[in-house]
Amino acid sequence: MDGILEKRKKQIHRTDEAKFDMECGKASLAGSVSQRACVFCGSRVVLYPITDALHLIHGPIGCASYTWDIRGATSSGRQLHRMSFCTDLTEKEVIYGGEKKLYKSLCTLIDKYKPAAAFVYATCIVGIIGDDMEAVCRKVEKEKGIRVLPVMSEGFKGTKKDGYKAACDAISELVGTGDTSGISKHSINILGDFNIAGETDIIRSYYERMGVEVVATITGDGRIDDICKAHGATLNVVQCSGSMTHLAKEMQAKYGIPYVRVSYVGIEDTSAALYDVAEKLGSEEIMEKTRELVAAEVAKIYPELLEIKKDLEGKRAAVYTGGAFKAFSLVRSLRTIGMIAAVVGSQTGNKEDYEQLRELCDPGTILVDDTNPVELSKFMQEQNIDIFIGGVKERPLAFKLGAGFCDHNHERKIPLGGFEGMVAFAKEVHASVMSPVWQFARKNKG
Ligand code: SF4
Repeated sequence: MDGILEKRKKQIHRTDEAKFDMECGKASLAGSVSQRACVFCGSRVVLYPITDALHLIHGPIGCASYTWDIRGATSSGRQLHRMSFCTDLTEKEVIYGGEKKLYKSLCTLIDKYKPAAAFVYATCIVGIIGDDMEAVCRKVEKEKGIRVLPVMSEGFKGTKKDGYKAACDAISELVGTGDTSGISKHSINILGDFNIAGETDIIRSYYERMGVEVVATITGDGRIDDICKAHGATLNVVQCSGSMTHLAKEMQAKYGIPYVRVSYVGIEDTSAALYDVAEKLGSEEIMEKTRELVAAEVAKIYPELLEIKKDLEGKRAAVYTGGAFKAFSLVRSLRTIGMIAAVVGSQTGNKEDYEQLRELCDPGTILVDDTNPVELSKFMQEQNIDIFIGGVKERPLAFKLGAGFCDHNHERKIPLGGFEGMVAFAKEVHASVMSPVWQFARKNKG
């Protein structure tokens, strides 16, 4: 591994290595310029799709800019989540404290926008100057009569995964406070789908066709009232396991609600998800409807996928995701259209995830945890990659190296989840890989 920092080497392995022990779940190495965002960003990503809440960032304006309106979480109702609010802390507050500014901002915004609840995010500087954010939130909550929840997400205090936990802690404060009367025993909560380009709506429609009641979507197209009564559901269905397993485990311990880990990326995983839920709910009627739904949806999309596969057979992809569970699904989805995942990595995967990836991927695939642009460039060149499937930060790398790109992160504007999402994914990959522009671009072989 020429040119790889010595201390990074234990976070990079190949599937055909004899011994394999991926080092992961640790702070990024200083100097390696990780592709991973901070704790605050982790919290914001998870909570932002709650559409009728006020999201106020307590910090300098720069913290707010990255998350402002570039993410594709849509709403079927209120659009308050599309607004990004920030207390815009400056030198004056760093010296004298920002509590007064926070109090004033919260009161003004709650009076103006009448949100169902408010989330207040702590950023690095708040942790340094020591504002008592929790006390301000308690005071405003009392005065305004809505839940005002502090999210303790100071950017420096861990990894993005700690941000997910801070977000789950804030959601836990809401769960268990609503009225659950009238909820069916065949009911679920959808956890860890963020309604990117309307994906939660697609998934919810499948469950409705199966005869399953969806109590709360946490957090895609989320509503505060629904989250408050989420403890009335029979089953938690967790997609983004990296961000939401913490909440699912807590609800299991507190309310006895079991959870199942699923993915809605690709034909195989979407079908498996729906069958798993039908089985866990224990109703033959629901299972029968699920069989009909899967058969109808697969029949609708399969001929088009076979056409696309003819051009893509043998093409090579690099995959880099937030949680590793999505990486499994993408490896399988690429296989469905004849492609090979030659580089696979994630920001927050654990040892078991990487073991599973090792079994799933082809021999010689590079597996990487919490990588950086220098490493990704090397891997793309070495593995002769035709397309990079990742997030907005990986796009320039792909284009500069003369490879295609498919955005599979929160910024995308077309839904890639569910059965129809698989066709959209295949079309997007096909358009990018087969574009004639690459004959004029620098070859990624270096
Ligand atoms: S919270 Fe800290 S690390 Fe995160 S964006 Fe703000 S300053 Fe940067």
